[in-house]
Amino acid sequence: MSSSTPSEITRAMTRAFAKSRWNPWLVLHAGLFILAGLLLASMWSVSLARLQHERTLVIDHARVSQQNLAGIIAENLRQVLDRGVLYSSVADGWFHASPRTGEANLANLLAGDRTYNRMAIFNLQGHELFASSPHVMDTDQQAALHDFLSSGAGNTLPALRVAPLSRAYGEAWHAPLLLPLSGPEGGLRGALMLHLDLGYLLRLYQDIDIGANGVIQIFEEHGIELARARRSGLEMGDSSKIVNPLPKDGSLSGTRSAPLFKAMSTYLISHHSLGDYPFTVTVNQPVEDILAEYRARRDKDIMLMSLLTAIALLLTVGVGVMVSRQRLYFETVARSEKEKKLLIEQLEDEKRRAYELASRDHLTGLANRRMFMQLAASHLARARRSRQHYALMFLDLDRFKSINDTLGHKVGDLLLRIVAQRLRETLRESDVIARFGGDEFVILVTGLEHETDVVGIAEKLVEIIRKPCLDLDGHDVQVGPSIGVALFPRDGQDLDTLIRHADIAMYQSKKLSRGSFTFFDQSLNTHLPHAFDLEQRLPKAIEDGEFVLHFQPKVETEGFRTVGFEALIRWQHPEHGLIFPNDFIPLAEGNGQILALGQWIIEAACRELAAWRADGLPLLPIAVNISARQLRDTGLPAYITERLAAHNLEPRLLQVEVTESSLVENIEIARGILDELVAAGIGVALDDFGNGFSSLGYIKTLPIDTIKIDRGFIRDIQNSPDDAIIVESTIILAHKLGLRVVAEGVETSDQVVYLKNAGCDLLQGYYFSRPIPREQVRGMLLHPMKEPS
Ligand code: C2E
Ligand code: CA
Ligand code: CA
Repeated sequence: MSSSTPSEITRAMTRAFAKSRWNPWLVLHAGLFILAGLLLASMWSVSLARLQHERTLVIDHARVSQQNLAGIIAENLRQVLDRGVLYSSVADGWFHASPRTGEANLANLLAGDRTYNRMAIFNLQGHELFASSPHVMDTDQQAALHDFLSSGAGNTLPALRVAPLSRAYGEAWHAPLLLPLSGPEGGLRGALMLHLDLGYLLRLYQDIDIGANGVIQIFEEHGIELARARRSGLEMGDSSKIVNPLPKDGSLSGTRSAPLFKAMSTYLISHHSLGDYPFTVTVNQPVEDILAEYRARRDKDIMLMSLLTAIALLLTVGVGVMVSRQRLYFETVARSEKEKKLLIEQLEDEKRRAYELASRDHLTGLANRRMFMQLAASHLARARRSRQHYALMFLDLDRFKSINDTLGHKVGDLLLRIVAQRLRETLRESDVIARFGGDEFVILVTGLEHETDVVGIAEKLVEIIRKPCLDLDGHDVQVGPSIGVALFPRDGQDLDTLIRHADIAMYQSKKLSRGSFTFFDQSLNTHLPHAFDLEQRLPKAIEDGEFVLHFQPKVETEGFRTVGFEALIRWQHPEHGLIFPNDFIPLAEGNGQILALGQWIIEAACRELAAWRADGLPLLPIAVNISARQLRDTGLPAYITERLAAHNLEPRLLQVEVTESSLVENIEIARGILDELVAAGIGVALDDFGNGFSSLGYIKTLPIDTIKIDRGFIRDIQNSPDDAIIVESTIILAHKLGLRVVAEGVETSDQVVYLKNAGCDLLQGYYFSRPIPREQVRGMLLHPMKEPS
């Protein structure tokens, strides 16, 4: 489960914001305002569209009802006029036969008709023949009558016409209609004047709701307004105030919006012409009135929307301000975060620099002692688990001090740098190179396949460093190195021991020959004089007593008590120092001098035992190595028993070690010799066991009591399963045959533990002690409980 604290979120956001290419705050702000703007714009556009639509609906509705009303009124008017035409046909009778009946009929008709309140009949000359009530025509009316009477031609009668309205009071609402009268034979005979009571007609519609300012008008054909009705009452027509009496397009019905009265607002005007009669009815309403309710609603809506807009804007601004504040906050956090990071980086930088300073040699850039110890220790930890070889080299430059003193420190420094450079170039990346100070260089050579590879590396280093260094501040300098080599784990299991031993070896190197290398393990130092010289000198060396025996203890696996020694021969050469047996025993075997040497060794071992006894020391058996050539010498058992007797020593104090290979060379004689030795009470050990081909079954037939497992098997016992199996099964089988088992070349505590678990009886190796000179053996005899070295 992971949970994020607010400060983590803040930090994460800050980081995210810092990374983006845009200014994210600007984007946030812009986004906020654009969003608000879009929302408001869409709200407004939808609402306005809705209002517009509503307005159209209201207007449409008004138009339809106006048109309906105009239609109804027109229809009514038409019926009235139709009646007038009917009256005229009745009045025609006047010119037929019986004017009297006509008069009576007309009077009757008129009495029941409230829309017509007067009628008069005129002949063609304009004389009034009949009148339902007295009336004085004004001149305009008379002119109109005469005009009407003279307009008939032949059989064509003039159409119904409206004469000018009378100005006389009380007749204001009476529209005088002129209708043609004809005789039985056709043709115009006179005119009927009917006074149409517009007031009565219009009053019928007065109660219809056409709004406070709505107007119903009746026009005659020339656009002269005859009458108008409002809710407030009836009015006289007054064409002088009318702007738009009739539509220009001559349509019978329709609606338009236009100003109606002079200096007045726009009206919605619906007209309906009667067509066959010269009348047009209009129903008008000021657009303002029609829209009044709509407008009130609209204003309310707009108010509301404005309010909403204001609130939204306020909110947006508020959020904007909040975002701004947040931005400030984030920016502050980001800034401080950045500063903190910078500070940490600086600190880390300084730490790194300090560490570098503390761990690097400032002159050469190599590791210093401190760093070397760290790196090398971790390498060694790994080395313990690997089958590869590791070597520690201590290198110093010959004559460095004198170069420094005579040519100056500057040249000395340049020289050290070049040497460091060459070391770096020669060695591998995995090797650890350090300068411990002065002209002391220390190197850990890592992961070698073979122990002998160290020789190649050391030789190469000597060669490279020996090359001249040209133009060091104007001087050409040539130096050789002295190198000491200690091998892991043979010469030390820990870094300090290895360095100490490499240092010792380096001094030895300096002492012997300048510009060379020396192993701490002397046996590996093979820079020897020519084998021929050695061979020549050998007999004299025996005479001159140049040979010495070194003794290596064998300890019990349980308790590490020393129970015996192996004598190992060394040649103390007056010129070449200590020479190890591998370099001269083969020579001596080759030319037979081994027999003399072998006798010397046996004598020396017996002498040593006698000396211990003389000094009152406890006696431990000494094993001597017998070479193949000696095993062909049938006089050997006699010589040995004779020497033992001469020194008055028990035979068990001397043991012999023979190798498998030396046995096979001449098995019959060898077996005889060994039988004799065993019979004399001398112990026989089979040396270097495992290297030969003999099986344990064969060994059973040999007169031996001990086998020594070759150190090649012990070395990798920890890492090589094969070697481990060989060692374990060898020990088990040897025990079954009643043989003692010695492990050779035990170098590490891990090997000790392993061999102990495998049941090995005795251990021998550098882990407990190297072969030591006779002087040192005495201490060991006194303290046979061995503390591992
Ligand atoms: P070896 O008989 O197997 O002797 C043991 C060798 O192993 C010795 O080398 C000893 O120094 C070395 N050694 C002992 N412990 C360790 C260890 O922990 N690690 C390593 N790496 N080596 C260890 P040394 O003295 O150089 O002898 C070499 C060989 O020379 C001997 O092998 C033996 O075959 C022969 N030799 C030595 N002394 C005599 C001698 O007096 N007479 C004869 N005939 N041969 C001798
Ligand atoms: Ca041996
Ligand atoms: Ca051996």
